[in-house]
Formats: sequence, C-alpha cells, structure tokens
Amino acid sequence: MKKIYLDNAATTPLRHEVIAEMTQVLQNDFGNPSSTHSFGRSAKNILESSRKSIAKILGCAAQELIFTANATEASNWILTSAVKDLKIQRIITSKIEHHATLYTVKNLQQQYGIEVDYVKILPSGAVDATHLVDLLSKSPNTLVSLMQVNNEIGTVLDIEKIGRICHQHHALFHCDTVQAVGKTEYNLQDIPVDFIVASAHKFHGPKGIGFAYVKKGIVLQPLLFGGEQEKGLRAGTEAVHQVAGMAKALELASTNLESERNYITELKNYCITELQTHFPEIKINGEVTFYNILNVLLPFSEEKTAMILFNLDMKGIAVSRGSACQSGSVKPSHVLAEILAEEDLKKPSLRISFSHYNTKEDIDALIDGLKGI
Ligand code: PLP
Repeated sequence: MKKIYLDNAATTPLRHEVIAEMTQVLQNDFGNPSSTHSFGRSAKNILESSRKSIAKILGCAAQELIFTANATEASNWILTSAVKDLKIQRIITSKIEHHATLYTVKNLQQQYGIEVDYVKILPSGAVDATHLVDLLSKSPNTLVSLMQVNNEIGTVLDIEKIGRICHQHHALFHCDTVQAVGKTEYNLQDIPVDFIVASAHKFHGPKGIGFAYVKKGIVLQPLLFGGEQEKGLRAGTEAVHQVAGMAKALELASTNLESERNYITELKNYCITELQTHFPEIKINGEVTFYNILNVLLPFSEEKTAMILFNLDMKGIAVSRGSACQSGSVKPSHVLAEILAEEDLKKPSLRISFSHYNTKEDIDALIDGLKGI
C-alpha cells in the first residue's frame, strides 16, 4: 500500500540532502565546539557557518540567532525572560495561538501576576487590528505575541503592519513564525519584529533543533544555566549535526522557495476544486490562508467524526483532525472554537497540509478515501 502524507503542518519529511549533510557531520565532526583543539574548532566552524547561512537567508545578523532545541523552548525563553528581565507587565496575545505560546503566557500570569489580554479574532480567522490598537492604548510595558501563520487553519498575519502598530505603541512584538520559516521570504532587518522562533522539522529539517531570533539591542537572560554556549544564553553542548541539518534545510527551502510555493499552491487549489466537486457542501475554515494549509468542514454527520481519521489511516492516508477531538484527545480545537458556530464545531473538520513531495494522485486518493466513508 502506498502511504500518503498530507500532514506537513505537523512535521515534514527530511530532504535527502539534509540527511547526507547530517550524516557527514556525525561521521567526521564529532568534536565539542567548546574544545580548543582542531576537533572542537572544526565543530565550532560548522556551527558558526550554519548560523551565518541562516542569518543571510533571514536578513539578520548571525549574532541575533540563538539555537534552541525547538520553537517551544525558544518561545518559552523569550516570553519568560521578557517578563522576568525586561519587566514586561502585560502580554497581549490571541486565543488561536499555539499552546507553546498560550500555556507559557498562562504560566507567566500565574507565576508573576502579569496582565493578559486576548485580541479579538474575526470570523475569517484574522486578528482584529482595530481591537489590538485599542488594547495597546491602555498601559505601558507590554509585549504582543501573535503568530504569523496559524498551524490549524493557515490564516496569515501581516507582520509588517502588526509590528508597526506594536512599535508605534512602544510594545515589544514576539511572532511565532514556525509555520512560515522556510516557506516565505524574510528581511528581518526591515521588519518591525523583536523576536521570531522556528523549528527545523517544519521545513524538511531534523527534529530537536530550532532557533530564536532576538533583535540586536534586546538583552534577555538565560533559562538554562551551565556552560557558555550561545553567548551564555542557552547552556548545553550544541547539537552540531542538527544545526548543520537545519541550515542545509533552510538553504534548500530558500533556493527552491518560488517553484515549490507555485507547485504547492496549485496542489492546494486542485484539492479545493476536487473537494468542492465531490462534496458540494464542504466549507473552508478560515479565509485568506497560507498556501500549504487547508482546513475544511466536511458535510458528514457528527457520528462519523471519530471514524474519519481512522478510516483514512487504514488506507495509508495521513491528515490531521481539525475539530471535535484533536488527534487522540477529546477536546475541541481551541482554534476552531474561536471561529465556528457551536453546531459546526461538532461536525468533522480536517486539516490537510501539503509539501512539494505531494502529487495530484495523493489528493485523488484522499478524495476516494473520503468518498468511502
Ligand atoms: N508554533 C506553531 C505555530 C507550531 O505549529 C508548532 C508545532 O506544531 C510550534 C509552535 C511548536 O513547535 P515545536 O513542537 O517544534 O517546538
């Protein structure tokens, strides 16, 4: 049975060039980057050339990038240090953020008594910028945390516009860019954003590695103490092969960005057309969505909700459940709960997320699989 992977917002398959790069580093450059001998220097070299390569692609300085285990760690660090060390007393975020942000902010609220406000989400899934301006006019020492591309419905934030609003009101801006890095262009030196975060496994790189971008001039303090790695901001021996794999993955993503974006956009449009042809009552959750994420409300009864992922999985097709119960959990999606009416929330929604490895045949198989339910 041919297996079909349409869950690329959850994670992506590694590019073979990335595996080759990591294998080469594992075999030849096992030194500890903190060692002063040639083995260490060679490892350090890989680390720093990777950092430079990532910085060049993102349009920032290499010193502004701190390697972390993943984006969850990067956001936890940034938000926590902003409260503890930059004296942030209030965070404005939204109810459709990833739990890496939402649960960190909740924890900071409980631990440090900071004020938390949630900006309104419009029925389209977009952030209500007028409400953000209202909220920002209230009190100083504020940080705004809003994601660029929503991982469940794919709605896109205009980070330039939101960043400008934040800076006009002297607020710091943390943007969870996990779903967008490697899939869109950046020139961070020109964007009014103070912090972004990424995880390599979302752009065909390895798991267990990510980074935080911290704008020059902002001084955070570490969460982890120990060695002097990452300028003392993130202690612990660096995973050199992971960093090299992440840099390679971003280089390839950047080189192929335009052609892969065009290809994936066409696939997504094909998927929408096919779904609408075979299931005319289907509805798309969220308006103006990113090119590799499609979240649809299926015109199936509530009773079928539980069966859909199981039936597709039996046919070797991997997608993600959008509502009612998230994969394995009985909780409704906190994102769809913000934009759907009560009765629609009970119905089955599906998140289909694409990569350049997918084909129209994969989509045909998905449609066949859905027709069989
Ligand atoms: N933010 C978004 C938007 C995500 O989609 C994810 C992963 O699903 C994360 C943060 C957390 O990434 P990681 O689990 O790699 O730390």
